[in-house]
Amino acid sequence: MKVPYCRVYCDGHELEYVRRVLESGWLTTAHVCFEFEQKMADFIGCRYSCAVNSATAALHLAAEALEIGENDLVFVPSMTFAASAEIIVHLQARPVFLDTEYRTNLITPEILEEGIRKNPNAKALILVHYGGQSARIDEIQEICRAHHIKLIEDAAHAFPSKYQDRYIGSFGDATCFSFYANKTITTAEGGMLCTNSENIYKRAKIMRLHGINRDVWDRYTGNASKWEYDVVAAGYKYNMTDIHAAIGLAQLERAEEMRQQRQFCAEFYYRELADSVEIDLPVCYVPHEDHSWHIFQIVLNDQCPLKRSDVLQQLSDADIGFSIHYKPLHQMTFYKEKYHLNPEDFPNAEKTWQRTISLPIYARMTSDELEYVCKTLKKILKSGYSKVR
Ligand SMILES: *Cc1c(COP(=O)(O)O)cnc(C)c1O
Repeated sequence: MKVPYCRVYCDGHELEYVRRVLESGWLTTAHVCFEFEQKMADFIGCRYSCAVNSATAALHLAAEALEIGENDLVFVPSMTFAASAEIIVHLQARPVFLDTEYRTNLITPEILEEGIRKNPNAKALILVHYGGQSARIDEIQEICRAHHIKLIEDAAHAFPSKYQDRYIGSFGDATCFSFYANKTITTAEGGMLCTNSENIYKRAKIMRLHGINRDVWDRYTGNASKWEYDVVAAGYKYNMTDIHAAIGLAQLERAEEMRQQRQFCAEFYYRELADSVEIDLPVCYVPHEDHSWHIFQIVLNDQCPLKRSDVLQQLSDADIGFSIHYKPLHQMTFYKEKYHLNPEDFPNAEKTWQRTISLPIYARMTSDELEYVCKTLKKILKSGYSKVR
């Protein structure tokens, strides 16, 4: 058997909707994109959404709209993907890296408060809802309010995820979703900025298309007197095409179904790996239904007789895909050198990344595939004992 780390299924209305766009004679940002934005906002229960070509673009637009600029301090976890932090650098602001909680990889209110004690002037927080599980957003929001810290949520892993019966996407100043190919729903490449703030929405919409104060679609379909447009800022080229939005519409229809299928995978792993004393399983503190289960990440603990490299090699030999989340940003050359980062300041991220393995998880993963992964992993771990002896 061969089990990939992830696999995308486009067997809903994807082809039909894409075909419609291709046959319509208009391919880029227009009414399909607006429909996708509207449906996302309705689904989440937020006021505004702005579709873009990546979550990275959404993060950049959110931070720009919140006027993050030169020398501003912005909290960001070290245990995340590069995109969460690079946009801070692009705005000439300064990332302040925080450690995360062991086994959830989340920023906790305690970690944030400690960060504020050391950096009382911080202006913003990029909060990652790691793996698809919401951070303790209510407490974190309160702390941010008290200290005038803008809250940008990196929800690249977290659609659809909930916190106390509300979807992620309507809490902070702005929330950024990813529709990259391996995320929980995809448009191949794409992202969405969700917000309840009219100001952030308006600014993001202008900046996503060259700082032009009107949509291109508007210009081409309006009557002749509407040819004119103005450029009010040096914007970016971040718009989402209707082709991508068409895929998104079809994926959105199946978002909850696919989330449930991922939950099935996670529950299978929890059940089958519960007795494996050599691994620490991820901690899920929200109801399973509120988690989007983007990543299922185990950590080999002190009782594990094998090195991670040995386990990875044997998984590969058994044709089982895996991923590593993440080599933390404080270990990446650019950030380490530019900001003089010390691994000792990130004990949980350190403890995690050297021994972590992300197991295959995707909608439609079958019981046979899950069983194969669990059996193989347990066999590998057991083989370690005889090797040591
Ligand atoms: C994937 C990811 C991003 C970036 O998403 P893109 O759509 O590829 O730009 C940002 N943050 C996190 C945590 C991610 O995993």
